[in-house]
Parts: sequence; structure tokens; C-alpha cells
Amino acid sequence: MEDVQAKADEKSCPVQKSLTFVEEFLAEPMCGRCFPCSMGSYETRIRLKKLLDGTASDDDILAVKNIAAVMAEASMCKKGKDTAKYVQEQIDSNAFAEHLSGICTPRECTHYHTYVIIPENCTMCGDCLDACKDNAILGEKKKTFLSGYMPFEIVQKRCTKCGECMKVCNYAAVKIVSAKEMAELNVKSQESAVKS
Ligand code: SF4
Ligand code: SF4
Ligand code: SF4
Repeated sequence: MEDVQAKADEKSCPVQKSLTFVEEFLAEPMCGRCFPCSMGSYETRIRLKKLLDGTASDDDILAVKNIAAVMAEASMCKKGKDTAKYVQEQIDSNAFAEHLSGICTPRECTHYHTYVIIPENCTMCGDCLDACKDNAILGEKKKTFLSGYMPFEIVQKRCTKCGECMKVCNYAAVKIVSAKEMAELNVKSQESAVKS
């Protein structure tokens, strides 16, 4: 189980750590000698994936907690117990509850953050346009003889959240915002559209 833990420890987000541990454990054939581990591991994986894609509720966290408690107690071998204990340690971090509020603090779960361009900072240099391999950026490079530019913006449906645009932007115009901040930005832009 050392290899399994080493892979899980490479992650920063406790939910990602837990899922990696469980998935690595389940990557090997399941012996199925005892019910808490054989059923519990698969159920835990389902619930953790819901936390990653933003569809989880309090019930899912409670289920992961309860399953881990039973697995830690009743698993017949060290593998099942180690898996449960690792998940229990991660749940204690409070990151699971944070995900329910739309926050993944280490920004490892891509569902919970979005890349946006702040128009006030953007100089329209076009470096991000060249860096984006997914054609997710719309905008027109600044030319001295032109006026009336198309402002730079990220098309969220195409964005794979690779972060390349942020790396190349020298003007701090590309920002990462949480799902919650993004919802607030959308409300503000709708309000200003109504006023204008
Ligand atoms: S706890 Fe051990 S014996 Fe029980 S199902 Fe899991 S791997 Fe098999
Ligand atoms: S790299 Fe930055 S400043 Fe240049 S166009 Fe993109 S967002 Fe704007
Ligand atoms: S994060 Fe990646 S895919 Fe998204 S706009 Fe930036 S470069 Fe393109």
C-alpha cells in the first residue's frame, strides 16, 4: 500500500487524495472476501466523484464517513483498513465541506474554478491567443492603425483549464476565480446589461 499512498500524496486536494487512493486500491483485482471493503470501496469512489464534479450533497460526505468508519473497523485485512483510515484522515480536513460551497482551495478540482480575462488589465497583446491550444480565447491583437477592438475573453465551453494563458500573460489580466466568484461576476454583468 506504500505505492498507493505515495500516488495519493502527490495530490494537494483532500478529495483528490482520497479518490486517488481508492482508485489505486481498486485498480488491483478486488478479492471480495469481506463485505465492508468490497462494497464500501466502490461506493466511496462513486461519492467522491460526485464531490469532484460538483453534484454531491451533505449525504454523500456522510456516506463516505460512515463507510470509512465501518471499513476501518470491519475490514479483514490491512488493505481495506488502510484505505479507510486514509479517507478518514482526509475528511477531517474540512475540504470536503468546502467543495459543497463551490470551493477547492488548492484549485485541483477543475469544476470549482474558471479562468477569466480582466478587461481593465488586458493590453490586447495577444500572447494568450497564441498560447491557447484549444481556441478558447476570442479577441483581436492591438494594431496601431485600428480602433474598435474585439475585447479578449475566454469561451468557457472550450476552455480545458490548462492554465497556459495565465502563464504567458505579463499583465496579470488572466485570473482564476472560484465557482462562487464566477456566479457573482455573472450577476454583476447581467445587472449592468439591464442598466445600459
Ligand atoms: S479488506 Fe482485505 S480481505 Fe476484505 S475485501 Fe478488502 S482486500 Fe479483501
Ligand atoms: S496575454 Fe494578457 S494582456 Fe495579453 S491579450 Fe491575453 S489577457 Fe490580454
Ligand atoms: S486555460 Fe488553457 S484552454 Fe483555457 S483559455 Fe487558457 S490556454 Fe485556453
